[in-house]
Amino acid sequence: MNIPNKIQIEGKTIDIVMEDMKDIDYCWGKTYFGTGKIGIAKNMSDEQKQITFIHELVHMIFETMGESELRDNEKIVHGLSELLYQVVKQI
Ligand SMILES: [Zn+2]
Repeated sequence: MNIPNKIQIEGKTIDIVMEDMKDIDYCWGKTYFGTGKIGIAKNMSDEQKQITFIHELVHMIFETMGESELRDNEKIVHGLSELLYQVVKQI
């Protein structure tokens, strides 16, 4: 799976940017809801980057749906993104 530089969700452009996140422990990615950006830590394997991309994408999708409780529910976001990743990597 190739991680795109940008995607569109409901007509809104989301930039996907590889970022230096060394200073933030346990943080592989970050979703910037206001500006419509997904940051992915660049010091990771390709698979970790792909998993992180799907994870942050699920956060962004819930945001787009106006589901703020689900957006902030890491258990739901993690579970959904892990299963989605299993499917996406087979495509
Ligand atoms: Zn998360």
